[in-house]
Amino acid sequence: MKILVLNAGSSSQKSSLYHVEGNTLPSQRPEPIWEASIDWTASNDFGTLKVKANGNKTEMKLDPNKRVEGVSKVLETLTEGDTKILEELSEIDVVGHRVVHGGSDYSEATRITSEVKAKIEQLITLAPNHNPAHLEGIEAIERLLPDVPQVAVFDTAFHNKMPRSSAVYPIPYEWFEKGIRRYGFHGTSHKYCAQRAAQLLGKPLESLQLITCHLGNGCSLAAIRDGISVDTTMGFTPLEGLMMGTRSGSIDPAILIYLMWEHKFNAEQLYHLLNKESGIKGITGKSSDMRYVLEHIEKGDERAKLAFDMFIHHLKTGIGAMLGNLTRLDALVFSAGIGEHSAPVREAACQGFEFLGLKIDLEKDAKSPVDTDISTEDSPVRVLIIHTEEDWAIASECWQIVQSN
Ligand code: ADP
Repeated sequence: MKILVLNAGSSSQKSSLYHVEGNTLPSQRPEPIWEASIDWTASNDFGTLKVKANGNKTEMKLDPNKRVEGVSKVLETLTEGDTKILEELSEIDVVGHRVVHGGSDYSEATRITSEVKAKIEQLITLAPNHNPAHLEGIEAIERLLPDVPQVAVFDTAFHNKMPRSSAVYPIPYEWFEKGIRRYGFHGTSHKYCAQRAAQLLGKPLESLQLITCHLGNGCSLAAIRDGISVDTTMGFTPLEGLMMGTRSGSIDPAILIYLMWEHKFNAEQLYHLLNKESGIKGITGKSSDMRYVLEHIEKGDERAKLAFDMFIHHLKTGIGAMLGNLTRLDALVFSAGIGEHSAPVREAACQGFEFLGLKIDLEKDAKSPVDTDISTEDSPVRVLIIHTEEDWAIASECWQIVQSN
């Protein structure tokens, strides 16, 4: 089965093609047979499309005023030029889309129908940077491959079974009924990490209690009990929760009211301040990148040190909050850019939980080994680094939906 995965964001579009043979899904991710990415941010004058297949790489410029054509350009590289891997696009069996917001209606990946599209459109107000890009991708595939089934894999779906005590905000209940509730995000990654953790630990996921830490530019945690996300740090939007690269995470909401009253901020300015100018970038004043923070701590930069200490403080506070929803902790899982690569972050976060007996092997930790247990033998809590594979997780969901049909 050939599965095309489209992961469209506000400023980028990543795509991969997987070829799965036989009647069983491989337990580990196979290499995609083709990969493409468009970056719309590197230049104002053009977007850059990079493609990798057959051991070849190509790169081309795209017109930023014709973003809708981006998907067709990407697909052309499947059947033409050095990266040609298919005779015809009709060889694709199913297309899976990462969709950031699925609202309250979806707790599973779902086949895209006109109702599903209408729902994604209706949710644009909640995901203004992402849902329009997803719809563009879905409609482009409808035009190019009208007979191929499409599947939406929602970032929110995994958290949809979260108990209402966590999902409802303590504001007048009528707002919950109008959709203001905690949805949670990064669900595809948290679910993948939980499943991979179960594989690595050699235990059924339904028997485990886990905390997964997705620490990339966006950061979130999930408390996973018997395979179900029972709590997570992101909420109504991906702004809630931990301190992130450029996002503030949770702050006292009265700060917003103060900024509006006293400094005449409008909604757009507040959105920009909290989403683009805060977090690590807001504290260092220079960069949102954890590598910058670590390098500048070495040079004695006090703001970098403060950004690191704050990041760890919020991470530990978040892990503590997740612990409150479990009855024991079998494993703490670190994933995404910072989680997978930053030994000092893992070390500092784990030190906060030594009272649980949790101990990491610092030598192992320093090497950031992928898909590996880095806890000491006597630690009752396992600590795992897992390379998150959102695209493969989406492909797996597509495979299951096609098989079950
Ligand atoms: P996104 O959420 O955009 O997918 P990533 O998962 O790629 O982001 O994570 C980006 C973050 O990972 C950045 O803060 C970056 O500094 C951090 N990162 C990547 N490599 C390293 C590294 N070797 N050491 C520390 N941090 C790293």
